[in-house]
Amino acid sequence: MRVVLVGPPGAGKGTQAQIIAERLAIPKVSTGDIFRANISGDTALGQRAKAYMDKGDLVPDEVTNAMVRDRLAEDDAKNGFLLDGFPRNVQQAETLDTMLSDLATELNAVLELVVDEDEVVRRLEGRRTCRKCGHVHHLDYDPPKTEGVCDVCGGELFQRDDDRPETIRRRLEVYREQTAPLVDFYDRRGLLVRIDAIGAVEDVTRRAVKALGVGEAS
Ligand code: AMP
Repeated sequence: MRVVLVGPPGAGKGTQAQIIAERLAIPKVSTGDIFRANISGDTALGQRAKAYMDKGDLVPDEVTNAMVRDRLAEDDAKNGFLLDGFPRNVQQAETLDTMLSDLATELNAVLELVVDEDEVVRRLEGRRTCRKCGHVHHLDYDPPKTEGVCDVCGGELFQRDDDRPETIRRRLEVYREQTAPLVDFYDRRGLLVRIDAIGAVEDVTRRAVKALGVGEAS
């Protein structure tokens, strides 16, 4: 199955993508995660991406598209994938179409996670990410047992630079202007399914699985 997840920053795309991808036994391809791994590894790609990410802007399309093209050509993506954070504008969506037709395949569904902006800001401001394993805690909704320490692996929790208030505002603006039009783009093609992404993680997963028609056991 080939699925794209869309939704504003803080909608829970990363969390749901992880769970759904495991359940469907397909890789989760997250452009944000790939950029962050490159930043940690201090690669040339990471250095280039960081300047944009810290401001809440999109990394230029030619950089992002080339990275996704390489990733989707890997063996583990042959039987499907779940894209988290890509495409993020219409140009990227058109490039994805070309990539998939080059691979003689196409998307099965685009899942939109619907969350209002106030909730998104609350989620992002309280988010604390583990430096070691990437697990995400929330200061109010899922606080760690010990302040600053990840429950899963004991790693150090930190606030992503782009989860600071000024950057959050910019990321939401970018979402409204550039990414939200994708909802119509995919709806017109009959690919869009939308779910309410407010509530417990398990409830949102249940809605997602149902909307995608993949059933609990898949
Ligand atoms: P995310 O983890 O998906 O919220 O992404 C974090 C940041 O990485 C974004 O704010 C962008 O700066 C960058 N990024 C992630 N995916 C893309 C994309 N498809 N196109 C351009 N920039 C992206």
